[in-house]
Amino acid sequence: MRIPRLYCKQVLSPKSRIVLDKETSHYLCTVLRLKANRDLVLFNGELSDTTGEYQARLVEANKKAAVVEIGEFTKTGTESTLDIELACCLIKNDRFDWLLQKATELGVTSISPIISEFTDVKHSVKLSKERLEKKILHWQQIVVSACEQSGRTRVPIVNVPTALIDWLTGDMNRVDEKYVLHPYNAVPFSFNDKQKAETKKIILLVGPEGGLSEEEIAIAHGQQFTSVSVGPRILRAETAPLTALSILQYQLGDFT
Ligand code: SAH
Repeated sequence: MRIPRLYCKQVLSPKSRIVLDKETSHYLCTVLRLKANRDLVLFNGELSDTTGEYQARLVEANKKAAVVEIGEFTKTGTESTLDIELACCLIKNDRFDWLLQKATELGVTSISPIISEFTDVKHSVKLSKERLEKKILHWQQIVVSACEQSGRTRVPIVNVPTALIDWLTGDMNRVDEKYVLHPYNAVPFSFNDKQKAETKKIILLVGPEGGLSEEEIAIAHGQQFTSVSVGPRILRAETAPLTALSILQYQLGDFT
């Protein structure tokens, strides 16, 4: 049986024992029916400086409070050298969930859900505080599962949904390049040698099904965004950012 690989919010140090939270204990002992002495792999994302994971062993298969002994730490090379914030307009719930999962697999650092002029009101209705918190929790669970599955060790940050104009005029210091994905009047999404050597921190903005308005594009340009195209065809709002992320990882990240 495959060794379960799990995200753990606690500080992990070799030779120590920790008690897992209720949800993780339930998942391991009730859903997976693991018994004591089973091997596990744990990672704790942003809590560790070095990207890697810990060998671990289930010592007490308690369904509510499982006890795990932490073993050796192993560095892994699955994290991209790029720091990419993906700002994507809200789209239909299931498509947005899918986009979060795939963007995590493709190595994004953070995801900012955006509400723009043509974002369908159905997807951006003002959620009550409670519903919004639930939604963000749901999105966080998606990115955690995608990290567990894909071997990532850093969990992307999912930000609170923000109006495009507020986001565009927010603090974007210390970013090397800002791109808005736009199928019209845009330069191809490719990089010269200088950009390849120097670009590490990137912001990528993508519109909703209805596209971005001319005014929004103009404001983005005013904030030093460059309009870039990922090909001659109009892609769906979830396909375009995944194409762009693949291009970024190929040209500037994973294969360099
Ligand atoms: N109906 C809209 C298309 C929206 S596509 C229109 O005609 O403008 C949804 C989003 O995906 C766009 O806002 C853009 O950010 C991105 N996108 C789609 N195809 C693209 C392409 N070929 N190049 C760059 N971005 C693209």
